[in-house]
Amino acid sequence: MSSTYLLAGGGGLVLILLLIGFYFTAHRSRRGGSSSAKHRGGLTLSDSAFKNQRLGADFILSNIEDGVVMVGPDNQIHMFNPAASKISGWPAEEAVGLDFHNVLQLLDVQGRPYEPTIHPFSQAIATGVTVRDSKGVLSTRGSKHVPVSVIVSPVTSESGSPTGSVVGVLRDITKEKAEESQRSDFISTASHEMRTPIAAVEGYLALALNEKVAKVDDNARKYLQKAATATTHLGTLFADLLTSSKAEDGRLANYPAVVELGEIVEQAAEAARFNAKGKGLDLRYIVSKGQENTSGQVMRPLYYGFVDPNRLREVLGNLIDNAIKYTGEGTVTIRLTGDSSVIQIQVHDTGPGIPPEDLPHLFQKFYRVDSSMTRTVGGTGLGLYISRRIIEMNNGRIWVESQLGKGSAFFINLPRLSREKALELQKRQASQIEPLGGGPGV
Ligand code: ADP
Repeated sequence: MSSTYLLAGGGGLVLILLLIGFYFTAHRSRRGGSSSAKHRGGLTLSDSAFKNQRLGADFILSNIEDGVVMVGPDNQIHMFNPAASKISGWPAEEAVGLDFHNVLQLLDVQGRPYEPTIHPFSQAIATGVTVRDSKGVLSTRGSKHVPVSVIVSPVTSESGSPTGSVVGVLRDITKEKAEESQRSDFISTASHEMRTPIAAVEGYLALALNEKVAKVDDNARKYLQKAATATTHLGTLFADLLTSSKAEDGRLANYPAVVELGEIVEQAAEAARFNAKGKGLDLRYIVSKGQENTSGQVMRPLYYGFVDPNRLREVLGNLIDNAIKYTGEGTVTIRLTGDSSVIQIQVHDTGPGIPPEDLPHLFQKFYRVDSSMTRTVGGTGLGLYISRRIIEMNNGRIWVESQLGKGSAFFINLPRLSREKALELQKRQASQIEPLGGGPGV
């Protein structure tokens, strides 16, 4: 493999400066900084690095383990370092000048090529913001499949204005993925194996509690009821563990389709009505106002999105269940709103609220607020973590706002499709469905 790298295009110098800056800043910060730091081209260098003329961009880009690829607004590769060649199997001499789609072919977990619009390089070129992806697999020149993490950032000129070019850093994460997969295989197998005996215990406890089948005295009934509650909790825990381990290693099936979210949110609200009523809570479902038609009726706005409807139902179910579970009295309000590009789903409650110090951790695995309320209410601490993974898988964002004593509000933002785009995608989806039990098509 050649130890040179090829560079073309105007933004290259800026990229190199940025890279050197990054490496040296990182190096310095690990040592706690240096008073004799020198600056060159916006970079901070130690004395010895400053004097070492060899320690330039060529040196660093030729020696780092990460593949570095620069792509121009024309989609052409303008720079390809040796590590990029090593990971992709493409000699730099051949890769430079080609369209990046031909060289950096990414496949999803199911082995399907990325849609051109969701390729991280296309996204960064189109949006001008940094895009990260560690779910893809790179199909190398020799058709080997290498799991990679990709971070693509826009290249800016020295004055800070966008150049239209992007630079991507590619890392071979085969080892990390293998370890992750071993770990989650263990969790999956263990959760799966445990669920069968738990289901049996649950079944027998239900029989023992059924007056038509078994006679138990009042004391025994009390104990059996406690055992049944604990067993149900354990069953939920294992089911959540299974889902979260799948979400972690990208095995959580997600079949996005064009859906009208108003319908899904309304169904989720209706499904929770019985539970809310049981607790004496008022459950409201509010859709932002639409336009009035000629007959004076207000039309509900249609919110089209491209998401997996079943996964979204899981998330809504979890947020609404939590709102009911943690609210002693008052109201749970589910609101659907949005603008031309975003759909927003909100779940408000008048519950105890969440302490500010807990808010940043709420969507982490197993995180539960340490309060008397949480201690008395059963839960696994996995629901919000799973919800976040699902929403992110569907290109959305989920967050919470809360004030102690005043209640909490959970928000989900999802990209909104225009009616025209939704119809076009629906047509495309329909034409891609295979006649005999084909996959999800998109
Ligand atoms: P759990 O199974 O414990 O409900 P989640 O991941 O769904 O797990 O929620 C994590 C934690 O966030 C909960 O244990 C609870 O402390 C807090 N929480 C979630 N929703 C609410 C809410 N609506 N009001 C107050 N606290 C909440």
